Amino acid sequence: MTLDANIAKAKGYIAQFAETGVLNHIDGASVPAASGKTFETISPVDLTPLAKVAKGGAEDIDAAVVAAKKAFPAWSKTPGAERRKILIKVAEAIEARAEELAFTECLDTGQALRFMSKAAIRGAANFRFFADQAPHAENGEVTRTPTQMNTTSRRPIGPVGVITPWNTPFMLSTWKIAPALAAGCTVVHKPAEFSPMTAKLLVEIAESAGLPAGVLNVVNGFGEDAGKRLTEHPDIKAIAFVGESRTGSMIMAQGAKSLKRVHFELGGKNPVIVFDDADIDRAVDAATFMIYSLNGERCTSSSRLLVQDTIYDEVCARVADVAKRIKVGHPLDPETVVGPLIHPEHEAKVLSYFDKAREEGATIAAGGEKIGEKGCYVAPTLFTQATNDMAIAQEEIFGPVLTAIPFKDEDEALALANNVQYGLAAYLWTNDLNRAMRMTDELEAGMMWVNSENIRHLPAPFGGVKASGIGRDGGDWSFDFYMETVNVSFPRAAHKIPKLGG
Ligand code: NAD
Repeated sequence: MTLDANIAKAKGYIAQFAETGVLNHIDGASVPAASGKTFETISPVDLTPLAKVAKGGAEDIDAAVVAAKKAFPAWSKTPGAERRKILIKVAEAIEARAEELAFTECLDTGQALRFMSKAAIRGAANFRFFADQAPHAENGEVTRTPTQMNTTSRRPIGPVGVITPWNTPFMLSTWKIAPALAAGCTVVHKPAEFSPMTAKLLVEIAESAGLPAGVLNVVNGFGEDAGKRLTEHPDIKAIAFVGESRTGSMIMAQGAKSLKRVHFELGGKNPVIVFDDADIDRAVDAATFMIYSLNGERCTSSSRLLVQDTIYDEVCARVADVAKRIKVGHPLDPETVVGPLIHPEHEAKVLSYFDKAREEGATIAAGGEKIGEKGCYVAPTLFTQATNDMAIAQEEIFGPVLTAIPFKDEDEALALANNVQYGLAAYLWTNDLNRAMRMTDELEAGMMWVNSENIRHLPAPFGGVKASGIGRDGGDWSFDFYMETVNVSFPRAAHKIPKLGG
């Protein structure tokens, strides 16, 4: 497929939003915001408006919560095997519309088609995986004493709020919504304002596959009004949030009054640590893949390259060479690796770090500039000769921007790796098994990959430590969040009950 053919196809897909815009979806119906207000979603390719979006606020959230609360008794009591069947049908329906989802997401977010086509399919895989767990999600344990038999079981917590960011929005939404639905919860979803389109497609796909009305509701809008109201709503029992660390902190404060359960997947400044005994070819491939794929707008991107000083110059030269050869271009060009960043506001943030790097005295070994006049394109960038106290080493830039720092030995590598506020992922390259054991024991990260890029295994836990998050997703961990564990105790015999008062 050529770029022109892909653009024509993508325009055909988003034409469905031309007349009505991206509406909210409440209780099975597509509706405008109660206020009638809208905002625009723009394409980062050329900043042209793609569609008007319903600007939901407190009133819309309240209506969506009423719908989710009304749908909860029937959905939560639907047998797990039945929920499984419906959610598998949702997965199949996502697969059937994978191209539409991928093309729409490319235009709305700027992410390259080569990655987005897989993200749509991965969204279906999320539904399948959690669907398969629905039939036994309520099961617990039986523990016995001589007098009592304790049985634990789990029940869905209630209507929940899901708040998602703009990077790979479709995949991330399914990652939170699929387990919530499989657990028997009903959902109000507040997608990111920069990338609203595929959330609307998801709810339509789900309902066309048999999900009952009101089980999944979508309210578009901004964090400070729609998002805030959702986190404060007394009938919303839990908030699953993916986004920035400081937003997580605000959500925790907002939800405190209603004692909201929260699950946070937040920012990262993830180290890739390369020792001189590692397979350097593979380490360079993995490090460049993890920072320059998905525009570097990825929570688990390897944004800090820590390299043993004996091989530092060689590794940096090779990474710079890759960075310079990467194709930056239109997200729908099948050859493109790096597309435009999501929005001019975010682009300005990323570009500001190029100035900071210069001011702080780092070397720009590749990139460090905006590309072209139109759209939010920035060059894949490598900063070398950085030190750990620099902003480019401490702050999440969230673009195709890598900061390389040399280290002498294991102790220094560990100190550099751990001396940041974040602790989401870490990547370690060494062929010394004992060193890998020592390092992984001490690294402060929720997820580590040894001699590998990020390869996600859905049954394994996903989440961060420190400012990178609270809670784990994946496997059974998602169900612990979306369900309450209850214990019922039965007497095994007529035991002696203490008699008071005589
Ligand atoms: P963001 O925190 O700005 O926004 C995320 C969502 O929160 C949006 O829907 C936004 O409208 C909403 N929001 C903002 N303020 C709110 C408030 N006061 N109350 C309720 N909702 C509010 O994040 P972003 O810029 O959209 O996404 C990028 C961030 O997401 C990065 O920090 C990235 O690392 C993180 N992220 C983390 C993971 C992970 O799994 N750890 C995955 C993807 C992205």
